[in-house]
Amino acid sequence: MSSLPLFPATLAGSLPKPFWLAETEKLWPQWRLTGAQLEVGKQDAALLWLKRQEDAGLDIVTDGEQFRIHFVHGFLEHVAGIDWQKKTQMGIRNNRYTVDVPTVTGALERKKPVHGDEVRFTRSHTRWRLKVTLPGPMTICDTIADAHYGSRPAMAMAFAEILNAEARELEALGVDVVQFDEPAFNVFMDEVKDWGIAALERAAQGLACKTAVHICYGYGIEANIRWKGTLGSEWRQYEEIFPALNRSRIDQVSLEAQGSKVPLSLIRLLPDKDILVGAIDVATNSVEPPEAVAAILTEATKHADSRRIQACTNCGLAPLPREVAAAKLVALGAGARMMRERHGHRSA
Ligand code: ZN
Repeated sequence: MSSLPLFPATLAGSLPKPFWLAETEKLWPQWRLTGAQLEVGKQDAALLWLKRQEDAGLDIVTDGEQFRIHFVHGFLEHVAGIDWQKKTQMGIRNNRYTVDVPTVTGALERKKPVHGDEVRFTRSHTRWRLKVTLPGPMTICDTIADAHYGSRPAMAMAFAEILNAEARELEALGVDVVQFDEPAFNVFMDEVKDWGIAALERAAQGLACKTAVHICYGYGIEANIRWKGTLGSEWRQYEEIFPALNRSRIDQVSLEAQGSKVPLSLIRLLPDKDILVGAIDVATNSVEPPEAVAAILTEATKHADSRRIQACTNCGLAPLPREVAAAKLVALGAGARMMRERHGHRSA
């Protein structure tokens, strides 16, 4: 595989489901197909998005998370030790919203490989670099109640071991990047330093492919928009965790930048990491012009060597209208190309 260009373009992970596969513009859509048709439908949707990512000029592609309804529960469905009937009311992301969540009632165990067949399929249909996303252990623990382990760090470590087994299998199937999604890292900053990063490193242990962590301010849903309104004129949450993350063994950090109040100078705290700069806002349907993508990447180059910068989205694009998401991919690819032209086509 050829080396990556400067400012390689990639996405945080998810993309909208086509209307024929699932309800549209929802975070928790219902599938519109069942049985064997559903399985073929998911594959067709993944193919569609692979093609659109490649056409948009992205360098590292994903399956758009077409095989799962939600980024956390798509994994948990395949883990034993969880009682889905025993719902516990829990305020998640530090009580940003209250949800009835399933409860861990026994020792956690992966019943069988979760995403293996999906990765085998996507890997066989693209020659581009392939990224796969998994929920991070701390974010899982913030989405499920515990009636077995007695402490969140202990439960997080149990999930980390399961995630690690899964990640190693996916790497063996030819995945180039394993990314763990940890939006909870922006909320529980003390716990991140106490045990969150340790659990993340356990999940990534022994992987030779690139490892990434995605830390955002969430999808553009009402509860998140309200929360962001309380964060003041500068969002400095990253400042508390980046020094510890920089010391970790994770290779890449994916962060939110476009349309947010994150001071990009905070990436100076990640001198040893690749930085996936969120150049596409997921909270708006207006499509960024490529110049706006290039502008935020240019700002990033003031604080980090350009060879460590990737062009990315702020978060997943799943809840957006499909054509908006497709147009944003095109803008992302075009903005990255613009940067390459300005910096000469050196490879990273
Ligand atoms: Zn996100």
